[in-house]
Amino acid sequence: METHEINKRFLDYFEKRGHTKVPSASLILDDPTLLFVNAGMVQFKPYFLGEVPAPYPRATSVQKCVRTGDIDEVGKTTRHNTFFQMAGNFSFGDYFKQGAIERAWELLTTSQDDGGLGFDPDRLWVTVYEHDAETAAMWREIAGLPSERIQFRGADDNYWDMGVPGPCGPCSEIYYDRGPEYGREGGPVVDEDRYLEIWNLVFMQEIRGELSPKKGHPPIGELPQKNIDTGMGVERVAYLLQGVENVYETDLVRPVIKRAEEFSGRRYGADHADDVRFRVIADHARSGVMLIADGVTPGNEARGYVLRRLLRRIVRSVRLLGVHEPVLPEFAAVVRDAMSPSYPEVAREFDRISDVMRVEEETFLATLTSGSRIFDLAARETKRSGGTILSGDKAFQLHDTYGFPIDLTLEMAAEQGLSVDEEGFRTLMEQQRQRAKADAAARKTGHGDLSVYRSLLDAHGETEFIGYTDLQATARVL
Ligand code: ATP
Ligand code: MG
Ligand code: MG
Ligand code: MG
Repeated sequence: METHEINKRFLDYFEKRGHTKVPSASLILDDPTLLFVNAGMVQFKPYFLGEVPAPYPRATSVQKCVRTGDIDEVGKTTRHNTFFQMAGNFSFGDYFKQGAIERAWELLTTSQDDGGLGFDPDRLWVTVYEHDAETAAMWREIAGLPSERIQFRGADDNYWDMGVPGPCGPCSEIYYDRGPEYGREGGPVVDEDRYLEIWNLVFMQEIRGELSPKKGHPPIGELPQKNIDTGMGVERVAYLLQGVENVYETDLVRPVIKRAEEFSGRRYGADHADDVRFRVIADHARSGVMLIADGVTPGNEARGYVLRRLLRRIVRSVRLLGVHEPVLPEFAAVVRDAMSPSYPEVAREFDRISDVMRVEEETFLATLTSGSRIFDLAARETKRSGGTILSGDKAFQLHDTYGFPIDLTLEMAAEQGLSVDEEGFRTLMEQQRQRAKADAAARKTGHGDLSVYRSLLDAHGETEFIGYTDLQATARVL
């Protein structure tokens, strides 16, 4: 079943059961606590908190999500994208646990011919919060699940919050058993590679403060009413229903892998290290396109930095596959073709998306060539002297002169079995910030020594700023 069809079935199922269909919100919402929207509930947060009355008692959506915290998992686990779609149903003070469990179970286990997703009920397991016997009883009652397929877990796993202050509550997760060839028996508590988490039902009833209940801090209050917030991972369901091995091989992601195979002449599935690169490329290309479509541009801070890191990781991975030409606009076009049926903004904004990618790639390729040479020399020197730590000095130079984000230096060092003196790096960064601040203050008060500029001006005349057109020049300031 194609991903677009899974989305459609989900929304239709809940719409038929009295839920208002709500379009995905942008990945960028005006919420200072979040860099990107990371779950379906984010756009409904004011309704859960009771700040604004919900315009409908029930809603359903498929939400674009970005989780940058999962970036290091990409390509290595079978189940983590940086961009993914979360299908959800929501109740604002309407139905609670029973209604959520009944509906999730029905949609998952109804046959595909009858409009459901057609999962074999005998392969489904659930987890329940350790203090929530009520929910366990409901799973036995409603789904007929035997007790051994209902597992209790602590707050770490089964108490959901947004990672920041906001609504929260105990949750119950649904897992699919992929079978003995994928790992150890005994349910998700024993092995989450074999038992794949597909859907989380959150019983949203409390508010967390600065500190998380996951870390043993009790919630700071009750919400005005009891709510339901669920999130089903569309790519995970797609991977199971499409009979492939992971989220990167699903119909909307795989085409980028194919394009990367064509570029590189290497074959996906032939070599483990290459496969991880192919998956990183496919995942990040999609996140990059979706983020730019929603208005993010590459930069050195916050959202812009995340986007820059994603795009640069693609470029590096492609080079490690032996490709040295520019590729980002090509991948962007593949992502557009896959995603625009569900997200027309990608087609609408494509020229801009493609331009942003092209410029970022050109800039980075220029810095990468010279920076890599410096890095290799430094790595060789470190090893020759019997060391295992690349100096903070070198990391700083790579950042300052060649525009290497520290993450890139860390990654390249790790590939060579080296670590990096991050503290030293940060000290130098801080010193540089202080110097810049002092310079700015001096300029403001007019006490700066401008004679050096005067003499340059006398010698060469007025200079022209070429940073916008000359990429070599821009590269140096990144
Ligand atoms: P995991 O334990 O696998 O990291 P999670 O518990 O962090 O997942 P939730 O916060 O419960 O995930 O999100 C709801 C659903 O969204 C999950 O059940 C899963 O199906 C899906 N999901 C979460 N993170 C990702 C991701 N990085 N890529 C793809 N799907 C995801
Ligand atoms: Mg997670
Ligand atoms: Mg989980
Ligand atoms: Mg979960």
